[in-house]
Amino acid sequence: MKAQPRASHYVNGRYVEDERGDPLPVIYPATGETIAKLHAATDNVIELAIEAARAAQPAWARLKPVERGRILRRAADILRARNDALARLETLDTGKAIQETLVADPASAADALEFFGGAVAAFNGDYVDFGGSFAYTRREPLGVCVGIGAWNYPIQGAGWKSAPALAMGNAMVFKPSENTPLSALALAEIYTEAGLPDGLFNVVQGYGAVGAALASHPVVAKVSLTGSVPTGKKVLALAGSHMKHATMELGGKSPLIVFDDADVENAVGGAMLGNFYSTGQVCSNGTRVFVQDRIYDRFLDRLTSRTKAIRIGDPLDPETQMGPLINKAQHDKVSGYIAIGKQEGATLHCGGGIPRLQGFENGYFIEPTIFTGVEDGMRIAREEIFGPVMTVLRFSAEDEVIERANDSEFGLSAGVFTRDLPRAHRVVAELQAGTCWINHYNLAPVEIPFGGAKQSGIGRENSLVALGHYSQLKSVYVETGDVASPY
Ligand code: NAD
Repeated sequence: MKAQPRASHYVNGRYVEDERGDPLPVIYPATGETIAKLHAATDNVIELAIEAARAAQPAWARLKPVERGRILRRAADILRARNDALARLETLDTGKAIQETLVADPASAADALEFFGGAVAAFNGDYVDFGGSFAYTRREPLGVCVGIGAWNYPIQGAGWKSAPALAMGNAMVFKPSENTPLSALALAEIYTEAGLPDGLFNVVQGYGAVGAALASHPVVAKVSLTGSVPTGKKVLALAGSHMKHATMELGGKSPLIVFDDADVENAVGGAMLGNFYSTGQVCSNGTRVFVQDRIYDRFLDRLTSRTKAIRIGDPLDPETQMGPLINKAQHDKVSGYIAIGKQEGATLHCGGGIPRLQGFENGYFIEPTIFTGVEDGMRIAREEIFGPVMTVLRFSAEDEVIERANDSEFGLSAGVFTRDLPRAHRVVAELQAGTCWINHYNLAPVEIPFGGAKQSGIGRENSLVALGHYSQLKSVYVETGDVASPY
Protein backbone atom coordinates (compact mmCIF):
# COMPACT_ATOMS: atom_id res chain seq x y z
CA MET A 1 0.00 0.00 0.00
CA LYS A 2 1.62 3.26 -1.09
CA ALA A 3 0.33 6.82 -1.11
CA GLN A 4 3.50 8.79 -1.68
CA PRO A 5 2.76 12.35 -2.86
CA ARG A 6 5.12 14.08 -5.28
CA ALA A 7 6.69 16.05 -2.44
CA SER A 8 5.96 17.01 1.17
CA HIS A 9 4.78 20.59 0.74
CA TYR A 10 2.73 22.60 -1.71
CA VAL A 11 3.90 26.19 -2.01
CA ASN A 12 3.08 28.84 -4.58
CA GLY A 13 1.16 26.43 -6.81
CA ARG A 14 3.73 23.61 -6.90
CA TYR A 15 5.19 20.77 -4.88
CA VAL A 16 8.27 21.60 -2.82
CA GLU A 17 10.68 19.33 -0.96
CA ASP A 18 13.39 20.03 1.55
CA GLU A 19 14.88 16.79 2.78
CA ARG A 20 16.66 18.55 5.63
CA GLY A 21 13.31 18.65 7.45
CA ASP A 22 12.56 16.10 10.20
CA PRO A 23 11.31 12.78 8.80
CA LEU A 24 7.54 12.52 8.81
CA PRO A 25 6.44 8.97 8.00
CA VAL A 26 2.79 8.36 7.10
CA ILE A 27 1.43 5.19 8.69
CA TYR A 28 -1.69 3.30 7.56
CA PRO A 29 -3.37 2.78 10.95
CA ALA A 30 -5.00 -0.51 9.92
CA THR A 31 -1.70 -2.29 9.32
CA GLY A 32 1.00 -0.10 10.80
CA GLU A 33 2.80 -0.01 7.43
CA THR A 34 4.50 3.13 6.14
CA ILE A 35 2.61 4.35 3.09
CA ALA A 36 4.54 7.57 2.48
CA LYS A 37 7.67 9.30 3.69
CA LEU A 38 7.54 13.06 4.05
CA HIS A 39 9.60 15.75 5.75
CA ALA A 40 8.55 18.44 8.17
CA ALA A 41 8.96 21.97 6.86
CA THR A 42 12.27 23.65 7.47
CA ASP A 43 12.41 27.37 8.27
CA ASN A 44 13.16 27.87 4.60
CA VAL A 45 9.93 26.17 3.49
CA ILE A 46 7.92 28.09 6.08
CA GLU A 47 9.33 31.38 4.81
CA LEU A 48 8.65 30.43 1.18
CA ALA A 49 5.02 29.61 2.01
CA ILE A 50 4.41 32.78 4.02
CA GLU A 51 6.05 34.92 1.38
CA ALA A 52 4.03 33.27 -1.42
CA ALA A 53 0.83 33.93 0.52
CA ARG A 54 1.79 37.51 1.33
CA ALA A 55 2.64 38.27 -2.29
CA ALA A 56 -0.50 36.69 -3.78
CA GLN A 57 -3.10 38.04 -1.36
CA PRO A 58 -3.57 41.71 -2.37
CA ALA A 59 -4.51 40.97 -6.01
CA TRP A 60 -6.87 38.20 -4.87
CA ALA A 61 -8.54 40.56 -2.42
CA ARG A 62 -9.17 43.06 -5.21
CA LEU A 63 -11.19 40.56 -7.26
CA LYS A 64 -14.96 40.78 -7.00
CA PRO A 65 -16.23 38.35 -4.34
CA VAL A 66 -18.32 36.60 -6.96
CA GLU A 67 -15.16 35.94 -9.01
CA ARG A 68 -13.36 34.46 -6.03
CA GLY A 69 -16.43 32.42 -5.23
CA ARG A 70 -16.60 30.99 -8.75
CA ILE A 71 -13.15 29.41 -8.31
CA LEU A 72 -14.15 27.90 -4.99
CA ARG A 73 -17.32 26.45 -6.48
CA ARG A 74 -15.32 24.98 -9.36
CA ALA A 75 -12.99 23.36 -6.82
CA ALA A 76 -16.05 21.98 -4.99
CA ASP A 77 -17.17 20.31 -8.22
CA ILE A 78 -13.74 18.72 -8.71
CA LEU A 79 -13.77 17.47 -5.10
CA ARG A 80 -17.14 15.82 -5.70
CA ALA A 81 -16.04 14.33 -9.02
CA ARG A 82 -13.00 12.78 -7.25
CA ASN A 83 -14.88 11.72 -4.16
CA ASP A 84 -14.02 8.02 -4.40
CA ALA A 85 -10.28 8.52 -4.84
CA LEU A 86 -10.15 11.18 -2.13
CA ALA A 87 -12.17 9.02 0.26
CA ARG A 88 -9.72 6.18 -0.28
CA LEU A 89 -6.78 8.52 0.39
CA GLU A 90 -8.49 9.76 3.56
CA THR A 91 -9.06 6.17 4.69
CA LEU A 92 -5.38 5.35 4.14
CA ASP A 93 -4.37 8.48 6.03
CA THR A 94 -6.77 8.09 8.96
CA GLY A 95 -7.83 4.42 9.04
CA LYS A 96 -11.48 5.50 9.07
CA ALA A 97 -13.91 3.11 7.40
CA ILE A 98 -14.40 3.82 3.71
CA GLN A 99 -18.17 3.78 4.20
CA GLU A 100 -17.67 6.93 6.30
CA THR A 101 -15.08 8.71 4.19
CA LEU A 102 -17.16 8.17 1.05
CA VAL A 103 -20.02 10.20 2.53
CA ALA A 104 -18.46 12.49 5.12
CA ASP A 105 -14.96 13.76 4.38
CA PRO A 106 -14.34 15.14 0.87
CA ALA A 107 -18.09 15.76 0.71
CA SER A 108 -18.09 18.11 3.68
CA ALA A 109 -15.04 19.94 2.33
CA ALA A 110 -16.92 20.35 -0.97
CA ASP A 111 -19.96 21.64 0.94
CA ALA A 112 -17.80 24.32 2.54
CA LEU A 113 -16.25 25.45 -0.76
CA GLU A 114 -19.64 25.57 -2.40
CA PHE A 115 -21.32 27.38 0.50
CA PHE A 116 -18.65 30.05 1.02
CA GLY A 117 -18.10 30.38 -2.72
CA GLY A 118 -21.75 31.38 -3.04
CA ALA A 119 -22.34 33.19 0.25
CA VAL A 120 -19.42 35.59 0.09
CA ALA A 121 -21.00 37.74 -2.62
CA ALA A 122 -23.91 38.44 -0.26
CA PHE A 123 -21.73 39.11 2.79
CA ASN A 124 -21.49 42.85 2.80
CA GLY A 125 -21.02 45.70 5.19
CA ASP A 126 -23.74 47.94 6.63
CA TYR A 127 -25.12 51.33 5.69
CA VAL A 128 -25.89 53.85 8.44
CA ASP A 129 -28.00 56.88 7.66
CA PHE A 130 -27.39 60.20 9.44
CA GLY A 131 -30.04 62.16 7.51
CA GLY A 132 -27.87 63.34 4.62
CA SER A 133 -24.45 62.30 5.80
CA PHE A 134 -24.00 58.57 6.14
CA ALA A 135 -21.55 55.85 7.00
CA TYR A 136 -20.87 52.42 5.66
CA THR A 137 -18.75 49.50 6.73
CA ARG A 138 -16.49 47.46 4.52
CA ARG A 139 -15.69 43.81 5.17
CA GLU A 140 -12.00 43.54 4.45
CA PRO A 141 -9.77 40.46 4.50
CA LEU A 142 -7.17 40.02 7.23
CA GLY A 143 -4.27 39.07 4.94
CA VAL A 144 -2.30 35.87 5.51
CA CYS A 145 -4.15 33.33 7.64
CA VAL A 146 -2.76 30.12 9.11
CA GLY A 147 -4.82 26.96 9.49
CA ILE A 148 -3.62 24.14 11.73
CA GLY A 149 -5.51 20.87 11.46
CA ALA A 150 -6.27 17.84 13.64
CA TRP A 151 -6.11 14.26 12.34
CA ASN A 152 -9.68 13.09 12.65
CA TYR A 153 -11.19 15.04 9.71
CA PRO A 154 -8.17 16.15 7.66
CA ILE A 155 -9.70 17.23 4.35
CA GLN A 156 -12.81 18.55 6.04
CA GLY A 157 -10.64 20.67 8.34
CA ALA A 158 -8.60 21.98 5.41
CA GLY A 159 -11.83 22.84 3.56
CA TRP A 160 -13.61 24.37 6.56
CA LYS A 161 -10.66 26.70 7.18
CA SER A 162 -9.54 27.54 3.66
CA ALA A 163 -12.98 28.11 2.11
CA PRO A 164 -14.10 31.08 4.25
CA ALA A 165 -10.54 32.43 4.35
CA LEU A 166 -10.14 32.40 0.56
CA ALA A 167 -13.71 33.48 -0.15
CA MET A 168 -13.11 36.59 1.99
CA GLY A 169 -9.95 37.49 0.04
CA ASN A 170 -7.28 36.10 2.37
CA ALA A 171 -4.40 33.76 1.59
CA MET A 172 -3.79 30.66 3.70
CA VAL A 173 -0.88 28.59 4.85
CA PHE A 174 -2.26 25.29 6.11
CA LYS A 175 -0.43 22.81 8.30
CA PRO A 176 -2.16 19.44 8.46
CA SER A 177 -1.74 17.20 11.47
CA GLU A 178 1.54 15.29 11.29
CA ASN A 179 -0.58 12.10 11.45
CA THR A 180 -2.62 12.88 8.33
CA PRO A 181 -0.63 15.02 5.90
CA LEU A 182 -1.90 13.67 2.57
CA SER A 183 -5.36 14.96 1.71
CA ALA A 184 -4.56 18.67 2.18
CA LEU A 185 -2.01 18.26 -0.64
CA ALA A 186 -4.77 16.80 -2.82
CA LEU A 187 -6.95 19.79 -1.97
CA ALA A 188 -4.13 22.17 -2.91
CA GLU A 189 -3.80 20.49 -6.32
CA ILE A 190 -7.55 20.81 -6.83
CA TYR A 191 -7.53 24.51 -5.97
CA THR A 192 -4.81 25.06 -8.57
CA GLU A 193 -6.76 23.07 -11.14
CA ALA A 194 -9.87 25.13 -10.38
CA GLY A 195 -7.97 28.30 -11.19
CA LEU A 196 -6.88 29.56 -7.78
CA PRO A 197 -3.86 31.79 -8.34
CA ASP A 198 -0.55 30.45 -7.02
CA GLY A 199 0.36 31.27 -3.46
CA LEU A 200 -3.14 31.56 -2.05
CA PHE A 201 -3.37 28.07 -0.56
CA ASN A 202 -0.10 26.58 0.63
CA VAL A 203 0.40 23.36 2.56
CA VAL A 204 3.39 22.90 4.83
CA GLN A 205 3.92 19.73 6.83
CA GLY A 206 5.25 19.41 10.30
CA TYR A 207 4.89 18.73 13.98
CA GLY A 208 3.93 21.20 16.70
CA ALA A 209 7.07 23.29 16.20
CA VAL A 210 6.07 24.14 12.62
CA GLY A 211 2.59 25.10 13.87
CA ALA A 212 4.15 27.31 16.52
CA ALA A 213 6.46 28.97 13.97
CA LEU A 214 3.48 29.75 11.75
CA ALA A 215 1.33 30.97 14.66
CA SER A 216 4.00 33.44 15.75
CA HIS A 217 5.14 34.62 12.32
CA PRO A 218 4.95 38.43 12.09
CA VAL A 219 3.30 38.41 8.64
CA VAL A 220 0.43 36.18 9.79
CA ALA A 221 -2.79 37.99 10.72
CA LYS A 222 -4.91 35.08 11.96
CA VAL A 223 -4.54 31.56 13.29
CA SER A 224 -7.29 28.97 13.19
CA LEU A 225 -6.52 25.78 15.09
CA THR A 226 -8.40 22.54 15.44
CA GLY A 227 -6.86 20.49 18.19
CA SER A 228 -6.81 19.66 21.87
CA VAL A 229 -7.35 22.13 24.70
CA PRO A 230 -3.68 22.11 25.84
CA THR A 231 -2.53 22.87 22.27
CA GLY A 232 -5.24 25.51 21.97
CA LYS A 233 -3.97 27.31 25.06
CA LYS A 234 -0.43 27.40 23.66
CA VAL A 235 -1.48 28.58 20.20
CA LEU A 236 -3.89 31.19 21.58
CA ALA A 237 -1.12 32.53 23.82
CA LEU A 238 1.24 32.75 20.83
CA ALA A 239 -1.40 34.48 18.71
CA GLY A 240 -2.26 36.83 21.58
CA SER A 241 1.32 37.82 22.16
CA HIS A 242 1.48 38.97 18.53
CA MET A 243 -2.06 40.47 18.55
CA LYS A 244 -3.35 38.07 15.90
CA HIS A 245 -6.93 37.04 15.35
CA ALA A 246 -7.60 33.49 16.51
CA THR A 247 -10.22 30.78 16.20
CA MET A 248 -9.86 27.75 18.46
CA GLU A 249 -11.81 24.55 17.77
CA LEU A 250 -10.90 22.31 20.66
CA GLY A 251 -11.90 19.21 22.53
CA GLY A 252 -14.94 18.17 24.49
CA LYS A 253 -16.66 15.73 26.83
CA SER A 254 -20.16 16.40 25.72
CA PRO A 255 -23.41 15.27 27.36
CA LEU A 256 -26.15 13.43 25.51
CA ILE A 257 -29.38 13.33 27.52
CA VAL A 258 -32.03 10.69 26.91
CA PHE A 259 -35.38 11.44 28.58
CA ASP A 260 -37.75 8.59 29.32
CA ASP A 261 -40.24 9.59 26.60
CA ALA A 262 -37.60 9.38 23.85
CA ASP A 263 -37.83 7.05 20.89
CA VAL A 264 -35.43 4.37 22.09
CA GLU A 265 -34.12 3.29 18.69
CA ASN A 266 -33.41 6.88 17.67
CA ALA A 267 -31.74 7.65 21.00
CA VAL A 268 -29.58 4.53 20.76
CA GLY A 269 -28.71 5.40 17.15
CA GLY A 270 -27.78 8.94 18.21
CA ALA A 271 -25.65 7.72 21.11
CA MET A 272 -23.81 5.28 18.84
CA LEU A 273 -23.24 7.93 16.16
CA GLY A 274 -22.06 10.26 18.91
CA ASN A 275 -19.54 7.76 20.31
CA PHE A 276 -18.43 5.32 17.66
CA TYR A 277 -18.33 7.23 14.36
CA SER A 278 -14.74 7.69 13.21
CA THR A 279 -13.78 5.16 15.89
CA GLY A 280 -14.84 7.68 18.50
CA GLN A 281 -12.34 10.28 17.31
CA VAL A 282 -14.78 13.16 17.03
CA CYS A 283 -14.41 16.31 19.09
CA SER A 284 -18.15 16.81 19.55
CA ASN A 285 -18.88 13.24 20.69
CA GLY A 286 -21.54 12.83 23.36
CA THR A 287 -19.43 10.60 25.55
CA ARG A 288 -21.46 11.19 28.72
CA VAL A 289 -24.77 9.54 27.94
CA PHE A 290 -27.30 10.41 30.66
CA VAL A 291 -30.31 8.09 30.58
CA GLN A 292 -33.45 8.66 32.65
CA ASP A 293 -34.35 5.90 35.14
CA ARG A 294 -37.53 4.59 33.56
CA ILE A 295 -35.97 4.03 30.11
CA TYR A 296 -32.54 2.95 31.32
CA ASP A 297 -32.86 -0.84 31.00
CA ARG A 298 -34.56 -0.74 27.61
CA PHE A 299 -32.00 1.75 26.30
CA LEU A 300 -29.03 -0.26 27.57
CA ASP A 301 -30.45 -3.47 26.18
CA ARG A 302 -30.78 -2.10 22.63
CA LEU A 303 -27.51 -0.19 22.89
CA THR A 304 -25.70 -3.36 23.87
CA SER A 305 -27.06 -5.54 21.10
CA ARG A 306 -26.53 -2.90 18.42
CA THR A 307 -23.00 -2.16 19.67
CA LYS A 308 -22.05 -5.85 19.67
CA ALA A 309 -23.15 -6.04 16.02
CA ILE A 310 -20.70 -3.32 14.88
CA ARG A 311 -18.40 -4.72 12.19
CA ILE A 312 -14.75 -3.89 12.89
CA GLY A 313 -12.06 -4.63 10.36
CA ASP A 314 -10.51 -3.73 7.03
CA PRO A 315 -11.27 -0.02 6.58
CA LEU A 316 -11.30 -0.40 2.78
CA ASP A 317 -14.06 -3.03 2.92
CA PRO A 318 -17.37 -1.20 2.33
CA GLU A 319 -19.06 -3.48 4.87
CA THR A 320 -16.72 -2.39 7.67
CA GLN A 321 -18.31 0.01 10.14
CA MET A 322 -15.34 0.74 12.37
CA GLY A 323 -11.65 1.05 11.56
CA PRO A 324 -8.68 1.45 13.88
CA LEU A 325 -7.56 4.40 15.96
CA ILE A 326 -5.07 6.78 14.38
CA ASN A 327 -1.82 5.49 15.89
CA LYS A 328 -0.14 3.59 18.68
CA ALA A 329 -0.05 6.57 21.03
CA GLN A 330 -3.81 7.01 20.72
CA HIS A 331 -4.30 3.26 21.11
CA ASP A 332 -2.25 3.32 24.30
CA LYS A 333 -4.20 6.34 25.54
CA VAL A 334 -7.62 4.81 24.91
CA SER A 335 -6.58 1.42 26.36
CA GLY A 336 -5.20 3.31 29.35
CA TYR A 337 -8.56 5.01 29.94
CA ILE A 338 -10.35 1.65 29.73
CA ALA A 339 -8.01 0.38 32.48
CA ILE A 340 -8.61 3.57 34.50
CA GLY A 341 -12.38 3.09 34.19
CA LYS A 342 -12.11 -0.41 35.64
CA GLN A 343 -9.81 0.78 38.44
CA GLU A 344 -12.21 3.59 39.27
CA GLY A 345 -14.95 1.03 39.85
CA ALA A 346 -17.06 1.56 36.72
CA THR A 347 -18.54 -1.58 35.14
CA LEU A 348 -17.05 -2.56 31.78
CA HIS A 349 -20.39 -3.39 30.23
CA CYS A 350 -19.19 -4.35 26.76
CA GLY A 351 -16.10 -4.17 24.57
CA GLY A 352 -12.85 -2.93 26.00
CA GLY A 353 -10.70 -5.48 24.21
CA ILE A 354 -8.45 -5.56 21.18
CA PRO A 355 -10.09 -7.48 18.33
CA ARG A 356 -8.03 -10.15 16.56
CA LEU A 357 -8.26 -9.43 12.85
CA GLN A 358 -6.42 -11.58 10.37
CA GLY A 359 -4.07 -9.52 8.23
CA PHE A 360 -4.45 -6.51 10.54
CA GLU A 361 -2.53 -7.77 13.57
CA ASN A 362 -0.40 -4.60 13.67
CA GLY A 363 -3.34 -2.21 13.32
CA TYR A 364 -4.54 0.03 16.14
CA PHE A 365 -7.98 -1.51 16.58
CA ILE A 366 -10.04 -1.41 19.73
CA GLU A 367 -13.56 -2.65 20.43
CA PRO A 368 -16.42 -0.21 20.88
CA THR A 369 -16.67 0.07 24.63
CA ILE A 370 -19.47 0.90 27.04
CA PHE A 371 -19.04 1.63 30.73
CA THR A 372 -22.01 1.59 33.09
CA GLY A 373 -22.10 2.32 36.82
CA VAL A 374 -20.18 5.50 36.04
CA GLU A 375 -20.06 8.35 38.54
CA ASP A 376 -19.72 11.96 37.45
CA GLY A 377 -16.37 12.43 39.22
CA MET A 378 -14.61 9.52 37.53
CA ARG A 379 -11.85 10.41 35.09
CA ILE A 380 -13.57 8.46 32.30
CA ALA A 381 -16.55 10.78 32.76
CA ARG A 382 -14.52 13.99 32.94
CA GLU A 383 -11.59 13.72 30.53
CA GLU A 384 -11.63 13.58 26.76
CA ILE A 385 -10.65 10.05 25.69
CA PHE A 386 -11.01 10.50 21.91
CA GLY A 387 -11.80 6.87 21.23
CA PRO A 388 -14.90 4.63 21.10
CA VAL A 389 -15.53 4.68 24.84
CA MET A 390 -19.04 5.58 26.00
CA THR A 391 -19.98 6.21 29.60
CA VAL A 392 -23.63 5.64 30.49
CA LEU A 393 -24.96 7.49 33.54
CA ARG A 394 -28.42 7.39 35.13
CA PHE A 395 -30.52 10.38 36.07
CA SER A 396 -33.96 11.06 37.55
CA ALA A 397 -34.91 14.71 37.09
CA GLU A 398 -34.53 17.46 34.50
CA ASP A 399 -32.87 19.99 36.84
CA GLU A 400 -30.48 17.37 38.10
CA VAL A 401 -29.32 16.32 34.62
CA ILE A 402 -28.84 19.90 33.45
CA GLU A 403 -26.57 20.59 36.41
CA ARG A 404 -24.60 17.39 35.89
CA ALA A 405 -24.34 17.93 32.12
CA ASN A 406 -22.92 21.42 32.67
CA ASP A 407 -20.45 20.28 35.32
CA SER A 408 -17.52 20.13 32.90
CA GLU A 409 -14.67 22.39 31.87
CA PHE A 410 -15.63 21.67 28.24
CA GLY A 411 -18.63 23.05 26.36
CA LEU A 412 -18.43 21.91 22.77
CA SER A 413 -21.73 20.14 22.15
CA ALA A 414 -24.76 18.51 23.73
CA GLY A 415 -27.74 16.42 22.71
CA VAL A 416 -31.26 15.88 24.02
CA PHE A 417 -33.58 13.06 23.04
CA THR A 418 -37.23 13.55 24.00
CA ARG A 419 -40.64 13.70 22.35
CA ASP A 420 -41.53 16.65 24.60
CA LEU A 421 -40.37 19.54 22.42
CA PRO A 422 -41.03 22.35 24.93
CA ARG A 423 -38.78 20.43 27.30
CA ALA A 424 -36.17 19.94 24.58
CA HIS A 425 -35.93 23.69 23.93
CA ARG A 426 -36.01 24.50 27.66
CA VAL A 427 -33.13 22.12 28.31
CA VAL A 428 -30.90 23.18 25.39
CA ALA A 429 -31.33 26.78 26.47
CA GLU A 430 -29.70 25.81 29.79
CA LEU A 431 -26.90 23.68 28.37
CA GLN A 432 -23.45 25.28 28.17
CA ALA A 433 -22.45 24.17 24.68
CA GLY A 434 -21.69 25.66 21.29
CA THR A 435 -23.85 23.21 19.35
CA CYS A 436 -26.91 21.31 20.59
CA TRP A 437 -28.91 18.63 18.82
CA ILE A 438 -32.51 17.76 19.54
CA ASN A 439 -33.33 14.17 18.59
CA HIS A 440 -30.12 13.67 16.62
CA TYR A 441 -26.40 13.84 17.24
CA ASN A 442 -23.21 15.02 15.52
CA LEU A 443 -24.61 16.58 12.38
CA ALA A 444 -22.51 19.58 11.35
CA PRO A 445 -23.93 21.11 8.16
CA VAL A 446 -21.89 24.03 6.86
CA GLU A 447 -24.91 26.35 7.07
CA ILE A 448 -24.81 26.49 10.90
CA PRO A 449 -22.02 27.77 13.14
CA PHE A 450 -19.80 25.17 14.80
CA GLY A 451 -17.58 25.78 17.80
CA GLY A 452 -17.25 25.58 21.53
CA ALA A 453 -18.14 27.28 24.78
CA LYS A 454 -15.90 27.33 27.86
CA GLN A 455 -12.55 25.52 27.31
CA SER A 456 -13.78 23.98 24.06
CA GLY A 457 -12.88 27.01 22.04
CA ILE A 458 -13.22 30.54 20.84
CA GLY A 459 -14.86 31.65 17.62
CA ARG A 460 -16.90 29.59 15.20
CA GLU A 461 -16.38 27.78 11.93
CA ASN A 462 -19.00 27.48 9.18
CA SER A 463 -22.03 29.65 8.34
CA LEU A 464 -21.78 33.36 7.56
CA VAL A 465 -20.28 33.81 11.01
CA ALA A 466 -17.03 32.24 9.76
CA LEU A 467 -16.74 34.92 7.07
CA GLY A 468 -16.85 37.42 9.92
CA HIS A 469 -13.97 35.62 11.63
CA TYR A 470 -11.86 35.85 8.45
CA SER A 471 -12.48 39.56 7.94
CA GLN A 472 -12.23 42.88 9.69
CA LEU A 473 -14.57 45.82 9.53
CA LYS A 474 -13.62 49.24 8.29
CA SER A 475 -16.05 52.02 9.13
CA VAL A 476 -16.29 54.88 6.65
CA TYR A 477 -18.08 58.13 7.60
CA VAL A 478 -19.16 60.29 4.63
CA GLU A 479 -19.99 63.97 5.18
CA THR A 480 -22.38 65.49 2.64
CA GLY A 481 -22.56 68.95 4.24
CA ASP A 482 -20.03 71.48 5.51
CA VAL A 483 -17.59 70.89 8.32
CA ALA A 484 -18.85 72.64 11.46
CA SER A 485 -15.54 73.53 13.05
CA PRO A 486 -15.18 75.75 16.15
CA TYR A 487 -11.78 76.96 14.91
P1 NAD B 1 -3.37 18.22 18.87
O1 NAD B 1 -3.74 19.32 19.78
O2 NAD B 1 -2.37 17.24 19.34
O3 NAD B 1 -2.80 18.78 17.49
C1 NAD B 1 -3.57 19.62 16.68
C2 NAD B 1 -2.66 20.34 15.70
O4 NAD B 1 -1.88 21.29 16.41
C3 NAD B 1 -1.66 19.43 14.96
O5 NAD B 1 -1.55 19.87 13.64
C4 NAD B 1 -0.37 19.68 15.72
O6 NAD B 1 0.80 19.44 14.96
C5 NAD B 1 -0.51 21.14 16.08
N1 NAD B 1 0.28 21.56 17.23
C6 NAD B 1 0.67 20.84 18.31
N2 NAD B 1 1.36 21.61 19.17
C7 NAD B 1 1.41 22.85 18.63
C8 NAD B 1 1.97 24.10 19.05
N3 NAD B 1 2.63 24.22 20.22
N4 NAD B 1 1.81 25.17 18.26
C9 NAD B 1 1.13 25.07 17.09
N5 NAD B 1 0.59 23.93 16.64
C10 NAD B 1 0.72 22.83 17.40
O7 NAD B 1 -4.75 17.54 18.47
P2 NAD B 1 -4.98 16.20 17.67
O8 NAD B 1 -4.55 15.08 18.56
O9 NAD B 1 -4.42 16.32 16.31
O10 NAD B 1 -6.57 16.19 17.53
C11 NAD B 1 -7.39 15.76 18.54
C12 NAD B 1 -7.94 16.92 19.33
O11 NAD B 1 -8.55 17.86 18.46
C13 NAD B 1 -9.02 16.49 20.29
O12 NAD B 1 -8.89 17.18 21.50
C14 NAD B 1 -10.29 16.88 19.58
O13 NAD B 1 -11.39 17.06 20.42
C15 NAD B 1 -9.87 18.13 18.90
N6 NAD B 1 -10.74 18.42 17.76
C16 NAD B 1 -11.57 19.50 17.82
C17 NAD B 1 -12.44 19.78 16.77
C18 NAD B 1 -13.37 20.96 16.81
O14 NAD B 1 -13.84 21.39 15.76
N7 NAD B 1 -13.68 21.52 17.96
C19 NAD B 1 -12.44 18.95 15.65
C20 NAD B 1 -11.57 17.87 15.62
C21 NAD B 1 -10.72 17.62 16.68
